[in-house]
Amino acid sequence: MILPPATLGILGGGQLGRYFTLAARDMGYRVIVLDPEADCPAASVADGHIRAQYDDELALSELAARCAAVTTEFESVPAESLRWLAARVPVHPAAEAVAICQDRLREKRFLAAHGLPHAAFASVASAEDLAGLDAKLFPAILKVVRCGYDGKGQARVRDEQEAAAAFAQLGNEPCVLEQMLTLDAELSVVLARAGDGAVECFTASENQHRDGILDISIAPPASIHAGLQAEARSIAAEIAHKLNYVGTLAVEFFLVGQCLLVNEIASRPHNSGHWTLDACFVSQFEQQVRALCGLPLARPEAHSAAVMVNLLGGLWSPRAPDFGKALRHPGLKLHLYGKKQARSGRKMGHFTVLGDSVDAALSLARQVQAEIPQTI
Ligand code: ATP
Ligand code: MG
Repeated sequence: MILPPATLGILGGGQLGRYFTLAARDMGYRVIVLDPEADCPAASVADGHIRAQYDDELALSELAARCAAVTTEFESVPAESLRWLAARVPVHPAAEAVAICQDRLREKRFLAAHGLPHAAFASVASAEDLAGLDAKLFPAILKVVRCGYDGKGQARVRDEQEAAAAFAQLGNEPCVLEQMLTLDAELSVVLARAGDGAVECFTASENQHRDGILDISIAPPASIHAGLQAEARSIAAEIAHKLNYVGTLAVEFFLVGQCLLVNEIASRPHNSGHWTLDACFVSQFEQQVRALCGLPLARPEAHSAAVMVNLLGGLWSPRAPDFGKALRHPGLKLHLYGKKQARSGRKMGHFTVLGDSVDAALSLARQVQAEIPQTI
């Protein structure tokens, strides 16, 4: 067990890294963040900030020398850096698991190899792969294999011609072509897995997107049958076991009729798990600290129903919103990430409404969401 006041390292200093840092510091750990950005959200709450690229060997060796264990908060971290660090210091999650989750093709092949449900897909490594694709895949979504997020690096295509045009538009980068499904809902399960194989799943959340970006998460997902929620938790746990994963992991699902399909796996805490900060006895971030340090995982039960609403950069235009009115609601918790630049679509913060029932939390969340732009 790595106990406080040991120093922990994290690759990536975005909002996920900020909450990891806050959770670790609450428990008495020290935290050093490695991130190239001067003003990254985690740096201002950390004990140290190594400002360097993620593959900078000098920076990585400094991190290894100063830290008792290292984790990461973003999916596109070079797996090679995790491997390099792991030769010097405990690193969780492992490079091998992250390497699968950060590559859509490897991820889908992993799901297929383990008989886990997923949408039909084909690899499109080059323009030649587009000829002779199974017509049953269309309409489809072409997705770049690496570094896509918030719906970026994706194109909806009706046929082979459109797929060829989209492939060129996406820069001829390796892609997967995925059958377009008619979704009845989307949900996710965030869990933590410890080094001894123990798994604790949070309640699933239902996730609604706007313009390809997560808009709200509802926990528990009251409109989704309890049996399906249990099935989602069991698939997510199976994925964590098969990856031999240690840390916090999120699995996104599509619901089509009564059928759950895995959309993607995130080898880190997840936006759809932010509600755990306020509605559970332990957050997804504290579980990450616990798994990293070999502490027992905490019980993930929620004490309230919760609805989380993302606050995107557009709300800051032409000037920052006034949250005064929203803050008058006693069950509302506001989180801002301290980002200086409010670009459109950028995640600037979120709020979570807690309630005795999902319906009550959802209706207040919707009301506040509608009010916020008008308070500018
Ligand atoms: P995020 O960063 O939010 O996880 P992402 O860029 O990784 O997003 P995906 O999760 O693959 O991308 O897709 C974003 C959204 O697009 C999904 O949440 C879903 O609403 C829609 N979508 C993706 N794939 C499909 C599909 N095969 N059929 C129908 N809708 C889809
Ligand atoms: Mg997604």
